[in-house]
Amino acid sequence: MQLSVLVDYIGSLLEVSRFRDYSPNGLQVEGRTEISRIATGVTASQRLLEAATTWGADAILVHHGYFWRNEDATVTGIKRRRIAHLLQHDVSLLAYHLPLDAHPELGNNSQLAKRLDLLPQGNFGEQNIAWHGVLQQPQTLRQFAALISHGLQRSPLVIGDNERVLRRIAWCTGAAQSYFEQAAALGVDAFLTGEISEQNVHVAEETGVAFIAAGHHATERYGVQALGEHLAQQFKIEHRFFDMANPV
Ligand SMILES: [Zn+2]
Repeated sequence: MQLSVLVDYIGSLLEVSRFRDYSPNGLQVEGRTEISRIATGVTASQRLLEAATTWGADAILVHHGYFWRNEDATVTGIKRRRIAHLLQHDVSLLAYHLPLDAHPELGNNSQLAKRLDLLPQGNFGEQNIAWHGVLQQPQTLRQFAALISHGLQRSPLVIGDNERVLRRIAWCTGAAQSYFEQAAALGVDAFLTGEISEQNVHVAEETGVAFIAAGHHATERYGVQALGEHLAQQFKIEHRFFDMANPV
């Protein structure tokens, strides 16, 4: 398929123009025009680029691309090596940040909910990016942590009373720890995100709302995979997800 068709299709599917974001969504580095193999991954690190080009990808689709709002705008050092690798292999980089968190079916928050048996009920936070809802089965914090460990293949860091029964949960993949107090104000029993900050521990203790840091990488593996699988079916192209291990 044509690269331009792919970029237009994803742009309208994820409603990219609806979002104010910290990095450009869509085609970030342009490669060859014909696409038959698409690689997906969480972050466009050198390790991911090398694995994807070794496999023979025509395009690489990620959640965390390049050109973030506050980064150095020059193409030097690590950024030079990454972009040089893409250009030498004539491979495109497509990146989707907030639109890929938010999509009601393929997005990170939707896909995480499916994995953890969460029933969504509404949204909150900046641009309504975070979700809240209920557990299909009320369970203790200890049980829910075990479900997360199994579902994400990674042990979460949990702050709270392990025997507390959880019903209402708020969640947002990635580094959404700054939404914790907004989540607590909704009356939830626990807030789940990828990363934790020092002050989250005190807020958890003082509100009684559990804080679960399940991993930035671990919680954001599923949106880009779902999008890659959707594209493979829609356009009869090959898709492969590359899970580059990351402990955070
Ligand atoms: Zn992220």
